[in-house]
Amino acid sequence: MLRLDEAVALALDGVTALPAERVSLDRALGRVLAEAAHAPRDLPPWDNSAMDGFALQAADTASGLTQLRVLETIMAGGVPRQTVVPGACARIMTGAPLPAGADAVVMVEDTDGGPDGVVTVRGVVQPGQHVRRAGEDVRAGAHVLSAGLVLGAAELGMLAAMGAPSVMVRQRPRVAVLSTGDEVVEPGFPLGFGQIWSSNTVALMAMITEAGGEPIHCGVAPDDAQGLNAALARCQHAELILTTGGVSMGDADLVKAALSDGLRFHKVAVQPGKPVALGRLFGKPTFGLPGNPVSCLVTFQQLVRPVIRAMLGLPRPFAPVIEAVLTAAVSKRPGRALLARARLQRGADGVIRATPARSQSSGAMSGMVEADGLVILPLESGDAPAGATVRVQVLRWRFMDRDEPGYWREGAEREAPEAPAEASAGEGDACC
Ligand code: AMP
Ligand code: MG
Repeated sequence: MLRLDEAVALALDGVTALPAERVSLDRALGRVLAEAAHAPRDLPPWDNSAMDGFALQAADTASGLTQLRVLETIMAGGVPRQTVVPGACARIMTGAPLPAGADAVVMVEDTDGGPDGVVTVRGVVQPGQHVRRAGEDVRAGAHVLSAGLVLGAAELGMLAAMGAPSVMVRQRPRVAVLSTGDEVVEPGFPLGFGQIWSSNTVALMAMITEAGGEPIHCGVAPDDAQGLNAALARCQHAELILTTGGVSMGDADLVKAALSDGLRFHKVAVQPGKPVALGRLFGKPTFGLPGNPVSCLVTFQQLVRPVIRAMLGLPRPFAPVIEAVLTAAVSKRPGRALLARARLQRGADGVIRATPARSQSSGAMSGMVEADGLVILPLESGDAPAGATVRVQVLRWRFMDRDEPGYWREGAEREAPEAPAEASAGEGDACC
């Protein structure tokens, strides 16, 4: 049987990044930058003041107590009209352009405020003090953002600061989701005997969105070849097609047959998720994911998510893997890789511990709800004992919040002297 890493390689084989499109900055959060960004000009564009105060010549303040004539007031957005000469200065606000002749700014707190056209400056001012130089943040022409990065608040702010109203990002792959099975009913519709609501459709659509794709809901196909083919035709405009169910060894497992022309695999040595197929339909990569809800989501995570991430042009399409210590044994027979659902917790010692979810059944959604990650036990490994250090593929990072003492407040340990010593240990050293 194909190993999981071989299946991943086959899934990624030939997948290339989609074309780019231009979107306005306010629509670009979470999108992938398609081309490197260079600064069209210096940032800041001109020398300006970092403080509310007085722009002056530093050499004037050598005596430590100086009186200077105030020539004018320069507001942020204003234009300096006068040149600062020895014995003179200009009142200046944060962000206002530095006037000609000035080489430093003294903050208003170190003066008498300059009540009537003359200001007294206390202390010696160094040249360049409280001046933000043109290009100090970014030089004109400098490489600022690399292609392939995910745009967050800081990157969008940087692009806006450089004057870009829009940005070139990778198109998001459209991913069709088709559930199969005579027993499967859309949520919201009444159930007959033996029927179940489709949990896979909405869960897959959520995972597609999280991965950066655009899900297309293609409904439920019946367990007959004609009905299945008609339903598959609804998927043809997507860049990637996903079906769930109908890929194992049962009588109604027709998806494998529908994929038979371009079939690359139909079984992978992994648990959960052994019955999973990859083929091509309408010239598009098509995954036949298992119907069992956990198998469906876990195989999406291993095989489909990397493909979506590669189509987005992300350089590292795989989910992060961390090390954790098992709190309970996990039983396993060699022959298939095991991806065990586990809850993660970060202890006060900084060690991350993994507790296997109560149900490891491939049909039990409760195990998936509990899980923060998948403990990876490789194909050849046997049982993993409690206390073993294992690798865990992280599904979500909420465990990083769970054990925190709460919002960090300066001096909190002084306000609550009754708190036990170990609860506040180390907090007093925090900075910023
Ligand atoms: P299959 O692979 O079609 O034999 O399905 C395996 C198991 O998954 C069966 O118990 C199905 O009822 C269940 N199943 C199939 N499709 C879905 C779905 N869309 N949502 C939830 N469970 C499903
Ligand atoms: Mg079925």
